[in-house]
Formats: sequence, C-alpha cells, structure tokens
Amino acid sequence: MTDPAPFWKTKTLSQMTREEWESLCDGCGRCCLHKLRFEDTGDLAYTNVACRLLNLTTTQCSDYANRRSKVPNCVNLTPETLAEIDWLPPSCAYRRLEEGKDLAWWHPLVSGDPGTVHTSGVSVSGRAVDERRAGPLEHHIVDWPGKLPKAKQPATQKSPRRPRLAVLKALQKETPE
Ligand code: SF4
Repeated sequence: MTDPAPFWKTKTLSQMTREEWESLCDGCGRCCLHKLRFEDTGDLAYTNVACRLLNLTTTQCSDYANRRSKVPNCVNLTPETLAEIDWLPPSCAYRRLEEGKDLAWWHPLVSGDPGTVHTSGVSVSGRAVDERRAGPLEHHIVDWPGKLPKAKQPATQKSPRRPRLAVLKALQKETPE
C-alpha cells in the first residue's frame, strides 16, 4: 500500500493547520537577514546581517514566542501576508509552495533530518553577522540569500533501492566474460 500524499501536496496554504503551517519553516534563517531596497529602482538587495535574536549557529530564533514584541518589524507570515511579500528567498518553503513548487530535498519534512538544512548550504549558519556588530548594512550586501544552494541531494536520501541496483549493474559490467 502506498503512503498517503503529505499535507503540503494535498492542502493549500490557507487550509493548513497551525502545526502544519509552522512545520513548513525549514529554519534556514534567511528571512532573518536584513534586506535593502534601492530607492531609485525598487530592486532588492540581501545582506548577511542577521536580526539580533537569531542564533547564528543553529539559525533558530532565540526568543520565537516573544520575537514580535522584541523586534516589532518582525513579519508575521500568514497566507495573506505571504502574497504581499516579495523578499522571501527562493529557497523558502512558503515561497516555493506559493509558487506551485514542491518542498526541496533539504527540507526536514522531506529528508527526515533537520541537519540537511545546514549540510545543503541553505541555512545562514556560519556566514551571517550579528546586527549589533555589523556596522552599515550597505557594507554587507551579498547575493547568496537570493540563490538556491548548489549542493545536490545525497544518493542515500533517495529511494534506497536505486543505489543498490546501480551498484549491481556496475559490478556486472566489470565482471570478465
Ligand atoms: S526563509 Fe522561509 S523557510 Fe527559511 S527560516 Fe524564513 S520562513 Fe523559514
């Protein structure tokens, strides 16, 4: 018997429960980086400067429950506000689903491992700067938050049967006649 399709493939964002909605966040921390907008063109620029509440190693908010009272401009992401926001990174699960894409391989709901958000290079771990130490934001403009990671899905995360078949075929090829 095949497993039922996961909720993010069967429900719209508006139909999800609070728990399902929250579980869509892969914890990458990219949305916690400051952005700049060029006044003349309206173009967006990402920086590597992070909100003071972001743990720069784990990329988790250090006070998620109270974040909006401590950082008043922290955005409350909902299906409604999502439609108005143009600065979520292309890797963001919410943006991907809203654009009709699937969750990416590194997403913990897909990989079953919260660590893949770090090993894939999606999270900001190790490359973000605390806003209290950064200085002028315009000195920290970077393009990587606006790009997808180059890391490929590890073969071990794909169907376990396929690598075995590939190995057998390779062995057969090398067997002398
Ligand atoms: S960018 Fe999206 S997936 Fe990443 S931490 Fe922010 S809301 Fe979560």
